[in-house]
Amino acid sequence: MLKESVHNCVIIGSGPAGYSAAIYTARAGLNPLVYAGKNPGGQLTTTTLVENYPGYPNGITGPELMENMKKQAESFGAIVKRQTIVKVSLVKEKNGINKLYTDNNEKVLAKAIIIATGALSKDLGLESEERFKGYGVSSCAICDGFLYKDKVVAVVGGGDTALEETISLSQRCKIVYLLVRSGELRASKAMQCRLWKISNLKIYFYHEIKEILGERFVEGVRIINNKNKKESILSIEGIFIAIGHIPNTAIFRGQINLDQMGYIITKKGSTHTNIPSVFAAGDVQDAVYRQAITSSGTGCMAALDLERYLMENH
Ligand code: NDP
Repeated sequence: MLKESVHNCVIIGSGPAGYSAAIYTARAGLNPLVYAGKNPGGQLTTTTLVENYPGYPNGITGPELMENMKKQAESFGAIVKRQTIVKVSLVKEKNGINKLYTDNNEKVLAKAIIIATGALSKDLGLESEERFKGYGVSSCAICDGFLYKDKVVAVVGGGDTALEETISLSQRCKIVYLLVRSGELRASKAMQCRLWKISNLKIYFYHEIKEILGERFVEGVRIINNKNKKESILSIEGIFIAIGHIPNTAIFRGQINLDQMGYIITKKGSTHTNIPSVFAAGDVQDAVYRQAITSSGTGCMAALDLERYLMENH
């Protein structure tokens, strides 16, 4: 038997966008229900020190920051459930009721929804990559680049993200190796022009990573030239994997407007989607900034947009 419940506001996702939306909607008396998914806290729970979230002059660990946000939301009455939404049925009518289905077979009815399901940075799929995450393996130079001042690092990828990371790291690191698996860069010409001016950069075309090496922290990488199959070792202290992101939008496909890359399209300057009662916040609708603070900002915007929608339509 399916269990049913009705809610003003259901938030899907528990990263900075989801919890910020929960804090605002809870304080507005909307009793939000947050579906936190299997990995509550989102991407920040795999980070060590967060030094760029305002309000923490000495930094704060990612898991601690997310636990604080959760507690703050709960203190105002948000209910956080460790379940995943696996299916949705969204309504186009302004005062309609959306249906959501959880992984334990519950049906939830919601007047309005905030989608804050985030995006995943793509992995290389190496066992050693998993082991060194947060200990030298990163997917965000803006977040972690500061830790590698005057050190030797590598970036993997040849798209705009990889080049942005490379440019940013080259300003503080001693040497940056850019490892590109093919013979060309996929990044925009404008970005490539900026790359050619960097003096402490070494580009390795046709190179892939076989293994990340080290004891507790990254100390090097074993790479292979995929043309002549020659292997070599680079001594580095940090590696930035920048091979793309996948927005978590599979369950919304066909019901909500997505762009070519699968990100939810929001109306400029707002969190409105093409469905009047559905709002999107955080990385799931942002392929450019992808920061905790920008996610929190759009989480707040979604809460305010949703509150206004409920006032006008229910
Ligand atoms: P892209 O998909 O554009 O590029 C991914 C890169 O990673 C490619 O060079 C690809 O190589 C490489 N790659 C993929 N898988 C592997 C692997 N397993 N091992 C090694 N290399 C791999 O992703 P981006 O994140 O760079 O960009 C996504 C979108 O966002 C793009 O449209 C981009 O233009 C946009 N963007 C724009 C920015 C800006 O305008 N400032 C900043 C960042 C992103 P290959 O080419 O061989 O497939």
